[in-house]
Amino acid sequence: MSEKKLQASISSIALQRLKDAVGDKGFIDAPADMERYLLEERGLYRGAAKAVLRPASTEEVAAIVTICAQTKTPIFPQGGNTGLAGGAVPWEDGKGIVLSTARMNRVRNVDPIDYSITVEAGVILADVQKAADAVDRLFPLSLGAEGTCQIGGNISTNAGGIAVLRYGNTRALVLGLEVVLPDGRVWQGLRALRKDNTGYDLKQLFIGAEGTLGIVTAATLRLFPKPKEIETAFLALSRVEDVMELFSRARMASGDQLTAFELISRFGVDMATHHIPGVTDPLAEKFPWYVLLEMSSSEAQSGIKETLEQFLGEAMEAGLVKDGTIAASQQQARGFWRIREGLVEAQKYEGGSIKHDISVPVSRVAEFILAANKAVSDRLPGIRPNAFGHVGDGNIHYNVHSPVGADAGVFVKRWEEFARLVHDIAMGMNGSISAEHGIGRLKRDDLARYKPAIELELMHRIKNAFDPDGIMNPGKVLLP
Ligand code: ZN
Repeated sequence: MSEKKLQASISSIALQRLKDAVGDKGFIDAPADMERYLLEERGLYRGAAKAVLRPASTEEVAAIVTICAQTKTPIFPQGGNTGLAGGAVPWEDGKGIVLSTARMNRVRNVDPIDYSITVEAGVILADVQKAADAVDRLFPLSLGAEGTCQIGGNISTNAGGIAVLRYGNTRALVLGLEVVLPDGRVWQGLRALRKDNTGYDLKQLFIGAEGTLGIVTAATLRLFPKPKEIETAFLALSRVEDVMELFSRARMASGDQLTAFELISRFGVDMATHHIPGVTDPLAEKFPWYVLLEMSSSEAQSGIKETLEQFLGEAMEAGLVKDGTIAASQQQARGFWRIREGLVEAQKYEGGSIKHDISVPVSRVAEFILAANKAVSDRLPGIRPNAFGHVGDGNIHYNVHSPVGADAGVFVKRWEEFARLVHDIAMGMNGSISAEHGIGRLKRDDLARYKPAIELELMHRIKNAFDPDGIMNPGKVLLP
């Protein structure tokens, strides 16, 4: 038997073993059925795989990984496949398998006294929120994809979202993890401890590792008191330079009860109101910049409405806010948020767009936006920047759209060129090229360019220590 034939037969035997490990329900190899696991939502990446495995338990995940470790088969772990950086789809060579956590969707335990919840990796984020809500608690992680994304993916990408300002990134919300290691063993680290000062905090290595060190199969997460009063305001600014002063004052005025502080540009409002049905501009006049602000309190008679009104009055008097409105009902507050969500959705209808997810120190957000606007406009007159996002975290989604009438395809081909421009500016301000979307394959080369050599070396050493054969999401985050 030739070597090539031998390999082919080993691989089909391995595939049969994998099928036996999960049963018919957990095994997909028909091309049409695999499609949704191979294509990333935004359409930038379409991979290939020998099969998609959908284990229903940690034991099944361990069995799959053991077989893959023995046969050195690449594994591409996947949650809800809502990522934006090519982290969850396999490579085009089709040599590996996709491991979807979708069937591991049990809430194992909710403990209101511990303020903790233990869930399996495949539980949809919105379902984690609901399970917490049912015992009068809050699980604060919240992002656009929450109806589809899975908690395992949120953890593996250290997801951010709109409540980071108050509650931190996913990293801050994880108390313990259960992980299947690249050799198939299970690390049982599901602890609900608030304090555990016993050396290296191993769970932190798996959070944000994008499945390159192991597969998160379950997590114990931190819960909070549920907000009883939420106030939402939509404020207009004449200059982006005023946004940090406004933010700083809002934090002080609210007794640090600020839960969201989102920047939106006029272009963003125009896009959302033009392309997304039901989205309207709550203000009569048009302004260049807006802030969507939310304060919340777990007290029932907190007085935050009065606090917000007073803050707003003072900010207007100081000239920081030109106009603004406080939502009079939950429905109106939803309407404000629809602008923020709608502008993300609307981007695909507004020519080609090149997207960045940078962060800088909070104090330098406006400086970054102005410098980036100038740099991209100098390079391509008529380019349309859509800067929006989480000012309170220093995180701006700095997306640029093709000039009106320009060829979208031609524009998007200049992705790397514009990414370099924008990332150079962020890095020049001690910033980051990926604030919350991760690295995946989209920013892998940029990571190698911008990370200090010593950090890259340590990252490679960690990868090699956990996964010496390089079977876990190979080629993602780090160059092989
Ligand atoms: Zn974001």
